[in-house]
Amino acid sequence: AMFDTLSASLSSAFKSLNADAKLTAENMKGPLRDVRRALLEADVSLPVVRRFIKKVEERALGLEVLEGVTPQVQFVKIVSDELVQLMGAEGSKDLNPGQPQVILMAGLQGVGKTTACGKLAAFLKKRRKSVLMVATDVYRPAAIDQLVKLGSKVDVPVFELGTAVSPVEIARQGVAKAKAEGIDVVIVDTAGRLQVDENLMAELQNIKAAVHPTDTLLVVDAMTGQEAASLVKTFNDQVDLSGAILTKMDGDSRGGAALSVREVSGKPIKFVGTGEKMDALEPFYPERMAQRILGMGDMLTLYEKAQEAIKEDEVAAFQKRLEADAFDFNDFLDQFKRMNNMGGLQMLKLMPGFSGVSEKQLYEVEKKLKRYEGMITSMTEEERANPQLLISSPSRRRRVAEGSGRSEQDVAELMGAFTQMKAQTSQMSKIMKLGQGGADAE
Ligand code: GDP
Repeated sequence: AMFDTLSASLSSAFKSLNADAKLTAENMKGPLRDVRRALLEADVSLPVVRRFIKKVEERALGLEVLEGVTPQVQFVKIVSDELVQLMGAEGSKDLNPGQPQVILMAGLQGVGKTTACGKLAAFLKKRRKSVLMVATDVYRPAAIDQLVKLGSKVDVPVFELGTAVSPVEIARQGVAKAKAEGIDVVIVDTAGRLQVDENLMAELQNIKAAVHPTDTLLVVDAMTGQEAASLVKTFNDQVDLSGAILTKMDGDSRGGAALSVREVSGKPIKFVGTGEKMDALEPFYPERMAQRILGMGDMLTLYEKAQEAIKEDEVAAFQKRLEADAFDFNDFLDQFKRMNNMGGLQMLKLMPGFSGVSEKQLYEVEKKLKRYEGMITSMTEEERANPQLLISSPSRRRRVAEGSGRSEQDVAELMGAFTQMKAQTSQMSKIMKLGQGGADAE
């Protein structure tokens, strides 16, 4: 799946860093070489890799010895920060505003351009925008049919004039119609091409001049690695893009395209496609991507936020409870409340196993937590402090279910979640300890 190979090789690079007190040119040599190899294997282009490694090395060498933070943690943090920089640091790359917004979609054949039009339409519709798609690929009637089909799938109208009118004219009329009808967003699909082709490039320029798109996006296939990045550069040189959509991320275990597009072309990735279904499109968030790549990065951010939000003595007390295996339902509730203080459920995304959750899933989790809270409130003090009582007694679970107006299955689910949280928290506690100077804690 996404980034799997890269994640695995980076994680082994980090392990090769031994537990010296400080990062030095000498002890970083091996790990840096491993990171370099990992990126090259991910199909990131050599100049990009070189710059990346140089930055990591410079930052690592100039680093203050942070009280109690191990070199491993610092090194991973630097690599993580630099990955975010590489992919574009300013966070989510929104579409440009406009009334209407006009999004011109370009791309080579087979990369998933038409699919991306449909997905983008569905994405915008979900955000309560009215959308019109415009079919201008007059060279392939099948392409028009495909867009019309996708349109009816996502319930978005498609403007088309068959194959007898010029693409520029179709685009012009489509946008005019959207303006007249007060439609928020027009997505203009253009002809796919087998390779970079001067005539079709000129056509894109002409459509652009006719309808002044607010965004011109090139759709590229993640599976093509650094080739995708140089395509974005080539198109950008000729038609001035505002960004790219990277498709087929679900099948890309290497990540070279995601890592290279911004650096090679100077243009951001705005969205990623993660499957064939119409809901498989996400805005591109460099930080989240870096987290996915590193896996461990999740834990690092959690560690940082936790340090901000939890006072040292609380941490120590909490760790004692964990070590004594005394984690109970009160702690469970406490943890959730604390998570709220740290930025709410968004924090969940940083927990191991949660990094891939979507907004919709987060909403589901939120509802779930409300249920949990209700059930925990229905427990006796004794039960809250001693979860084993509930785990071993069906009649107690039944009582909690009745008391909170939930089913026994809900209570069983809570038991499962509790056990999981306990395990995760214990893991987090170990990481925090690592941060507090236990170089041998690994
Ligand atoms: P176009 O020629 O660029 O318009 O490409 P299409 O939109 O027709 O897509 C080509 C193929 O790629 C189709 O089989 C799509 O279902 C598939 N596809 C598009 N986007 C994705 C994606 O994000 N993930 C996966 N796995 N397949 C995709």
